[in-house]
Amino acid sequence: MATLSNSFQQQSQSTAIVIPDKDRTLTVSYDQLTAEVASFQQKLAKLGVTPEAAVSIALPNSYPFIVAFLAAAWQRAIAAPLNPAYKQSEFEFYIDDLSSAVVLVPKGQADGPVVKAAKKYKAAVAECYWDGKEVVLDVKDEGKLAGKGNKQVEKAQPDDVALVLHTSGTTGRPKAVPLTHKNLTRTMTNIQATYKLTPEDRTLLVMPLFHVHGLLAGFLAPLLSGGSVIVPLKFSATEFWSNFIEHKASWYTAVPTIHKILLKNPPPNPKPNIRFIRSCSSPLSPKTFHELEKTFGAPVLEAYAMTEAAHQMTSNPLPPAKRMPGSVGIGQGVEVKILDQSGKEVPQGSEAEICIRGENVTKGYLNNPEANKTSFTAEHFFRTGDQGKMDKDGYVIITGRIKELINKGGEKISPIELDNVMAQHPAVSEAVSFAIDDEMYGQDVGIAVVLKDGQELKADEFKSWMTEKVAKFKLPKKIFFTNNMPKTATGKIQRRMVAEAMLKQEE
Ligand code: ATP
Ligand code: MG
Repeated sequence: MATLSNSFQQQSQSTAIVIPDKDRTLTVSYDQLTAEVASFQQKLAKLGVTPEAAVSIALPNSYPFIVAFLAAAWQRAIAAPLNPAYKQSEFEFYIDDLSSAVVLVPKGQADGPVVKAAKKYKAAVAECYWDGKEVVLDVKDEGKLAGKGNKQVEKAQPDDVALVLHTSGTTGRPKAVPLTHKNLTRTMTNIQATYKLTPEDRTLLVMPLFHVHGLLAGFLAPLLSGGSVIVPLKFSATEFWSNFIEHKASWYTAVPTIHKILLKNPPPNPKPNIRFIRSCSSPLSPKTFHELEKTFGAPVLEAYAMTEAAHQMTSNPLPPAKRMPGSVGIGQGVEVKILDQSGKEVPQGSEAEICIRGENVTKGYLNNPEANKTSFTAEHFFRTGDQGKMDKDGYVIITGRIKELINKGGEKISPIELDNVMAQHPAVSEAVSFAIDDEMYGQDVGIAVVLKDGQELKADEFKSWMTEKVAKFKLPKKIFFTNNMPKTATGKIQRRMVAEAMLKQEE
């Protein structure tokens, strides 16, 4: 198994993909998908895409994205999905970083930012769309592929790089992560096993396919399991439940931001039957965990993932096994250890760096020897950069990113712990803690607070409420009220960015 060329049933009438549409829903069987991917692979070959060429896919969630991604992998090329909402300078950064051979864009992009960026680096440009009969590859500019068409290729091998994605750039410049067929299929198998995915499962995909979360957990793992994936063209809170019910979805996976939006748009009665809800990519506060379980009537399983691990590392297990709010669960086909700076395991329950080892983990970043040197221990454990601890049953609790811990005169304060406490205040919609410079302690605690509509709360009142909940040294020195919490494209809190925005607001 171990490659994307043979990881899903290729001869079956059962439904692989559903693309809901008001006018005409597209339903694709495994048979049809296989044929479409094989045919698109030929189109890529004809254009001159050879093994190891980077195929940048700047398409939104859609059938063409799915077909182009799989066809690139079958061609032994490297799929490199890009957020179609990037600005020109961002496209330029990624296209240059990977020396993309071709950039796939939606129909009618003639002079859009992505095409301008592609041309600057002489990448071929092709529009890619569904014409009602097939996925079309309409070559607009052959760029550096001119005259290179039509080479036959061998079948993909497990150690071929199939995908390159960049990290989200939460803690610095995004890093390019190559992932092989083996890395990807290992995660697919791990996710299938964690959630006991079967051909009966119908997954509603709400996460973008241009990140590992949507691509691996929301799409590839369900496909490996022989189930159906429902792929709306974009996430819409108002259409979520009608899609869920009409297409008989059994589960979905999303970031906490999306779960919170859905809590404001709860399911109609009678509630649909949801086998489980998966949450991943950012911390889910225990408060939101309980609200979700109550409102949606389904078990919530929080997981922990990163690009370098081809997504999932740990997850809470399905009932009847224990799931623990505030914990990201146990290693799922992945070894997890809490190691100190020297690579030594710390006593059970102590906090240090979460480190992982498994077939899903990348061999190392592209063109980044510096990061590769510091990212792996002598025993080949990957250093996640996240601080955490493990209980006696192996449940992992993340306390923060090492780079984002608040170091108050040597006392380390977990920003995630503070965020979870603050989220419990009834007037608070969202609250984020971060380090601010302090003359006396080096760093101290700052917090940014967004209040719920129509609520009022004074800084003093909030601080005295917090006094009941956390030790005195963790109380915020500065409290900022704001209407707008800055986030990365993937909805993550970038604490440094929040701190900068708040301090600027103060000036
Ligand atoms: P960069 O590495 O460029 O700074 P990034 O780490 O945000 O960006 P990703 O690979 O998208 O890039 O995200 C992985 C990180 O997301 C993890 O290292 C961890 O900090 C965070 N994360 C993932 N799942 C969870 C979770 N359930 N709870 C808390 N944090 C999580
Ligand atoms: Mg990271």
